[in-house]
Amino acid sequence: MPASRKPRRSAKAIGTPDIAPDLLAWYDRHRRRLPWRALPAETADPYRVWLSEIMLQQTTVATVGPYFKEFLDRWPNVFALARAPLDDVLHAWQGLGYYARARNLHRCAQVVAQDLGGVFPDTEAALRALPGIGAYTAAAIAAIAFDRKANVVDGNVERVMARLFAVAEPLPGVKDRLRELAAGLVPARRCGDYAQALMDLGATVCTPRKPKCVICPLMAQCQARALGIAEELPAREAKANKPTRHAIAFVALRPDGAMLLRRREEKGMLGGMMEVPTTAWRAARWTLDEAQAQAPVKAAPRSRWRQLPGIVRHGFTHFDFEIVVAVARVSASAAGSATGRWVSLDALSDQALPTVMKKIIAHALKQSAAPRAA
Ligand code: SF4
Repeated sequence: MPASRKPRRSAKAIGTPDIAPDLLAWYDRHRRRLPWRALPAETADPYRVWLSEIMLQQTTVATVGPYFKEFLDRWPNVFALARAPLDDVLHAWQGLGYYARARNLHRCAQVVAQDLGGVFPDTEAALRALPGIGAYTAAAIAAIAFDRKANVVDGNVERVMARLFAVAEPLPGVKDRLRELAAGLVPARRCGDYAQALMDLGATVCTPRKPKCVICPLMAQCQARALGIAEELPAREAKANKPTRHAIAFVALRPDGAMLLRRREEKGMLGGMMEVPTTAWRAARWTLDEAQAQAPVKAAPRSRWRQLPGIVRHGFTHFDFEIVVAVARVSASAAGSATGRWVSLDALSDQALPTVMKKIIAHALKQSAAPRAA
């Protein structure tokens, strides 16, 4: 809904409904079968719940499915994951993005395996003390793995609350209120099922567009449906435009075709991942001369670098990224003085390269192979 457009009417305040009985009865019939989920009458495995919740942060269920299965095949328990080299974990994480999650996942596995005897804590407070587990994830694990009474509020649940109570104020400012409303509905029993039922309802029935109110178990209690404003909620504040950052990437190639990569610093964006050397990522565009003055790849003299046509574009959550690519052929003797790791093209797929770097490399290989204009 455009930010300027407000729902036609506001709901009157009402008492807190008791949605758990209808919601749980619906969940018993319609729950989604997900690879990390315990079947009815099974006990949830905290390792699987934790692994799935970390993967699901900022990533869709459909994307996570194959990754979850691969991780479980390779590292079936927290001890196996703790023993794995970080590079292997980062490599297996490729494509899920937000690589800080993978580093924290590995650190968390080591803490649980080495300091806690392989046993995940069962309270929100203790879970939050572990690497990579914030308020939402702690609540989700406590509820789903240990059936603790916890208020698990993700985007799906916010949407259901906004509609159930016909909250007209826009997100994100209204988040705290939606969280409070959700807290008032959590039942004392079957807390894990309740949390997953709300998520399922948001994902399959109370969808962002065209909510299926006629088959919704909460239809009788839903104020937005009664007011005819379900699809207009939740309202959202207008988004500020994302800024753009710029860089030049330097793709150095040895005579045998190997490419120079380096590892990013552990802290910060894409920390610990491999990359093609680049300039700083900044708001102003770079010229090649200016970028070369920084000598990002000392093995090639300035005259060797050739700027390729075209721009590589990549969208991060908080900014758009535009990268100009320069390529240089480096002699075998000069290559020895370069800082970084020379990787043969065949072995690139074994490197923990984030998506943006794969795009840069693909652009460089395609453009540098293309015939040059006369
Ligand atoms: Fe969502 Fe419609 Fe159900 Fe209300 S009745 S919770 S709007 S699907």
